Amino acid sequence: MGISPARAGDEPPVELWRQQMSGPAHSLTLPDVAGRLRDISYVAIDGQAVTEGDISLGRVGDVAGGRLHFPGVLPEKESPRPEGVPDDTCTRGPSGAGVSDASALWPKGRVPYVFDPGLPAAVRDMVGKAIAGFTAGTCVRFVPRTDERAFVRILAGTGCYSMLGMRGGQQDLSLGTRCNYLGTVIHELMHAIGFHHEHNRSDRDGSVDVHLENVTPAYRSQFQKVAAERNRLLGDFDQNSVMIYGNRAFSANGLDTLVAKNGQALTDPYAKTGFSGADLIAVRQMYGC
Ligand SMILES: [Zn+2]
Repeated sequence: MGISPARAGDEPPVELWRQQMSGPAHSLTLPDVAGRLRDISYVAIDGQAVTEGDISLGRVGDVAGGRLHFPGVLPEKESPRPEGVPDDTCTRGPSGAGVSDASALWPKGRVPYVFDPGLPAAVRDMVGKAIAGFTAGTCVRFVPRTDERAFVRILAGTGCYSMLGMRGGQQDLSLGTRCNYLGTVIHELMHAIGFHHEHNRSDRDGSVDVHLENVTPAYRSQFQKVAAERNRLLGDFDQNSVMIYGNRAFSANGLDTLVAKNGQALTDPYAKTGFSGADLIAVRQMYGC
């Protein structure tokens, strides 16, 4: 992935966040769902404002105007609850870190998608494997779109990114160069159904140390936690989650930025074979199945 072209001898995928490092960072300060000011930094990729390495907040023009889709972090300004979204009986409960806005969940766990015509066959095959994992282990169903209003368009854009949860209408999920790894594809689909990064969950300080001194300054805000009262914690912190980044995410100096308190190495999504057991449980809890 990344904006720079692959060079001979490059390690395969590079970390997801690397695409972030390749463009100038923009930032906004907005009140979060708890009313506290929060810095949001992003880079422009394919016209999308991308934060945390791979989460699209929406079109750059919209985001610059303060219209962001960042459920669970920023207040939703224009997201009436769509028909068929699970009610609170289905979505309540302790529990990965899911979005807390029910309006960002896909009704009945059904996620319509289309492939952009330019998406290579090998990537389509990998998406098929990822979808089979959701089907086998959860009640979430990715289904080819017919005429649904809200759907995910999967395209080969610049790098890998997704929106967080359902936005309504078309939302783009990019699997570009160097994104064709099962762990990466599952990671992006997990964002699309509403999962935050594991290292941003509100209770992460009990399980990982963040070394901000090693983080490129423009990207320190990528390590802000989701407000405690707003994320839905689905189980304990999971060092093996497909939603956690590796030890050197956003590192400015090659030193670790993210260190598990239990001493285990943290690997990037691409290096993972897929879901952790706890990821699957979290999906089932979030979608009430
Ligand atoms: Zn991500």
